[in-house]
Amino acid sequence: MAEETIFSKIINKEIPADVVYQDDLVTAFRDINPRAPIHVLIIPNKLIPTANDIEVEDELTMGRMFTVAKKIAKDEGIADDGYRLIMNCNSHGGQEVYHIHMHLVGGRPLGPLLMS
Ligand code: AMP
Repeated sequence: MAEETIFSKIINKEIPADVVYQDDLVTAFRDINPRAPIHVLIIPNKLIPTANDIEVEDELTMGRMFTVAKKIAKDEGIADDGYRLIMNCNSHGGQEVYHIHMHLVGGRPLGPLLMS
């Protein structure tokens, strides 16, 4: 059984977060340490620790993460200029919180690689 992280508490509203979207499958909230003018994390409500733990049964949830990302990008006014979607995996990928999350980053031109 995977260990719950602070993100479970955000999903369950046990700690505050700037939640911009929530439905039966996913939750999205603003990153507490934004690296760009728009930096939102989109996470599954189900605890999936890393990209290595995604199962076939999670395909609907993974797809929902992308359609929600698209919606938030439009709502935030960055869809046309563009943005980046990132998911870090394990230590070499720079993952800090072991509940998978898609970073939606935009609002300024981004470098050719990563979030620098
Ligand atoms: P990663 O390095 O891909 O695991 O990213 C984890 C992200 O979670 C970082 O960008 C953190 O700033 C962000 N983060 C950690 N705790 C919180 C929190 N309580 N609310 C919002 N974002 C958080």
